[in-house]
Amino acid sequence: ICMTFNNSAASLIKHGFAREVEVGEGLDLLQEAQERDLVQFGENVQRRVNFICNCCGCCCEAMIAARRFGVMNPIHTSNYLPELDGELCNGCAKCVNVCPVEAMSMVSANDPRHPKLHRAKLDESICLGCGVCVRNCSRDAIRLQPRGERVITPVNSSHRTVLMALERGKLQNLIFDNQALASHRAMAAILGVILELPPVKQALARRQMRSRYLDRLLGIHSASTQH
Ligand code: SF4
Ligand code: SF4
Ligand code: SF4
Repeated sequence: ICMTFNNSAASLIKHGFAREVEVGEGLDLLQEAQERDLVQFGENVQRRVNFICNCCGCCCEAMIAARRFGVMNPIHTSNYLPELDGELCNGCAKCVNVCPVEAMSMVSANDPRHPKLHRAKLDESICLGCGVCVRNCSRDAIRLQPRGERVITPVNSSHRTVLMALERGKLQNLIFDNQALASHRAMAAILGVILELPPVKQALARRQMRSRYLDRLLGIHSASTQH
C-alpha cells in the first residue's frame, strides 16, 4: 500500500496514478497493513512527510533492494533492533518466515541433549527494525531495543538534496542516476520539493529537466495556488 501526501499526491491523483482517500480510510488502511505484517515506514523527515510505505517482502522495490544489496540506506530503518532471548526461543521459525528482508535465520541451538533444536539468529546489518518479527513471536522471545547508533532524521533531507542538485545543474542526474523515475517514493519526494520552491528555483528546475510533465505540473500548481 503506497501512500503519498501533499502536492505530489495531488499530481498523482490528477494523472490517474493514485486515488484520493479520506483520513478515516487512510487510518483503516494503516491498521490493515499492520495486521497483515507489512513493513511500515515514512519519508525520513521531521516535517511534511511526502509518503508512507506499507511494504510486502514479495513485490516492494524497497524490500527487494534490501535483500539484493544487503545493507540498507538508513532511510528505511527504525531506531530499534530486535533482541533475542535464546532461553525462550523454541525454534518455531515464525520470525524467519515473516521477516521481509531475510534478516532472521535458524541456526543450531548447540544443545547436545537436543541435537535437532534450532534457534533464531539475527543479521543486524540488514535488519530494518520494523518489529514485524516481534509481534509474531508467540514465545515473547524477541524485544525491540534502541540501536547503539541513532538514525538521525533531518528536517527535510529531500529539500536539501534537490536544492544542492539544482544549484550544481545536476537535477537530471539526481533523477536519472538514482533511477528515481522507477520509484514512487523517490519521485514523490523530489516533485514535492520542486512544487514548494520559489518561482526562480522552479524556473531553474524547468530548464534543467526540459520535461513537459514538469512544465504542466508547475503550471497546474501555480494556477491552483493563485485561486
Ligand atoms: S516501497 Fe514502493 S512499492 Fe513499496 S509501498 Fe513504498 S512506494 Fe509502494
Ligand atoms: S518466532 Fe520466537 S520462538 Fe519462534 S524462532 Fe523466532 S524467536 Fe524463536
Ligand atoms: S525487525 Fe524483525 S522482521 Fe523487521 S527486519 Fe528486523 S528481523 Fe526482520
